[in-house]
Amino acid sequence: MVYMNIVVIGSGYVGTTAAAIFAASEHDVIAIDIDESKVRSLSDGKAPFFEDGLDNLVSSTISTGRLSATTSYDAIESADVVFSCVGTPDNPDGSSNLSYVFSVAKKAAEEMKPGAIFVQKSTVPVGTGQEIIKILPKSISYVSNPEFLRESTAIYDTLFFDRIVAGGDNTDACRTVLELHKTVEDHARDIATVSGVLVDTDDLVAHTGEYVATRLESAELIKVTSNAFLALKISFANSIAQLADATHADIDEVMGVVGGDARIGKAFFSAGRGYGGGCFPKDVSGLISSAKSFGVDLPIMMAASSVNFSMPGYIVQKIKSIHELKDVHVAVLGLAFKSGTSDARKSPAVKLANLLAKEGGRVYAYDPQASEEAKPDLDSSITVCATAKKALSGASIVVIATDWPEFKDMDWIKPLVAGSLVVDAVNCLPASEVQALGFKYLGVGRGA
Ligand code: NAD
Repeated sequence: MVYMNIVVIGSGYVGTTAAAIFAASEHDVIAIDIDESKVRSLSDGKAPFFEDGLDNLVSSTISTGRLSATTSYDAIESADVVFSCVGTPDNPDGSSNLSYVFSVAKKAAEEMKPGAIFVQKSTVPVGTGQEIIKILPKSISYVSNPEFLRESTAIYDTLFFDRIVAGGDNTDACRTVLELHKTVEDHARDIATVSGVLVDTDDLVAHTGEYVATRLESAELIKVTSNAFLALKISFANSIAQLADATHADIDEVMGVVGGDARIGKAFFSAGRGYGGGCFPKDVSGLISSAKSFGVDLPIMMAASSVNFSMPGYIVQKIKSIHELKDVHVAVLGLAFKSGTSDARKSPAVKLANLLAKEGGRVYAYDPQASEEAKPDLDSSITVCATAKKALSGASIVVIATDWPEFKDMDWIKPLVAGSLVVDAVNCLPASEVQALGFKYLGVGRGA
């Protein structure tokens, strides 16, 4: 394939990763964002957020000139392919806020050259593409190319994808989008080296991701259905965890064996304080809302959402059943919605910290990457600490709220704390080892 002029609109987790990886695959890429601080960060050779390996990739592609960043939309007119990677947050009623998506589509309609391809990487409700096609000139092709990367393993997931999907009516345009991704696969070894993400040599040799062309509506529905099913698995595990708590079964033993059935699979079966972040919560509510607009009810997803909503409160009730919270020093370790990211959007760790504060706990919170992002959502009584040591010193209760690797070692934590209760809200600690240090251990679905 010929190397292309690519514009990536939106420099968040998806856009920055895509822009840097396409640039590292020898395409000329211009990243556009309305947020000047993100553009400045990229132009300085730094990702605007924490993601393993991305700083290395951004700095190397900026320095070779393959990648540049701007707030101006001028570059759109000479682009062969424009990727839309802007946010699709939820509205207060749970539906998807598509204002950013449509504002970018309008720009594309005005500026793109005939024959160019407008690609949607943002997660949008099924039917959105047909609405966008109505505002694009006939000479511009539209392709839905949903993104499946996970924050914290974004580069790895892009290089060693399970599937790349391109959906649309124009089969040539879909083929071009798939071929564009093939150039990434061809550069995977170099990109892995430059970014420094840990890659097994076997991954490089044996990778067999699929390239799939689909109908436009199928591509849109594939993305939200994937996330909905993963959310469903987590909520299912959390429901069974509550039964395990009531019966002294162990959720890890149960789901480990249940998931060992090849028809079911082990992934996303960990119990804990629930899912969060910039995708699952709004993708589930967006799916429920868009299904409703087509006259379809999805009670199964409503149940998944409501179980998820209840989990931080469930954990607080468990703590209250064995320990006072009023005026008690509680150290909350972890605020990010998961480890490996600075993303604290809709983080259940934040919700847990807030509920503990609401119960009268004196909460001292720490996160290695997400403290700044979490601050606006934290209860004003919570002290955000610069180090884990500060949060832990003299604590009566330690709550592990995000599974950062440094929180899995209780040996250094033990001498700092005054109390003896460890609450493992993400089931990431070996209970017996915690107990061997003299702590009481409280997990989710791991019995008393
Ligand atoms: P994000 O909020 O991190 O980034 C979105 C960016 O778009 C922001 O930097 C914002 O300033 C910019 N933006 C908004 N309007 C703009 C405009 N008119 N012109 C230029 N820039 C504009 O979002 P994200 O996490 O990267 O997600 C983007 C999309 O990808 C969403 O639809 C999301 O659901 C989907 N997605 C996200 C992930 C993930 O793990 N984060 C994974 C797969 C899919």
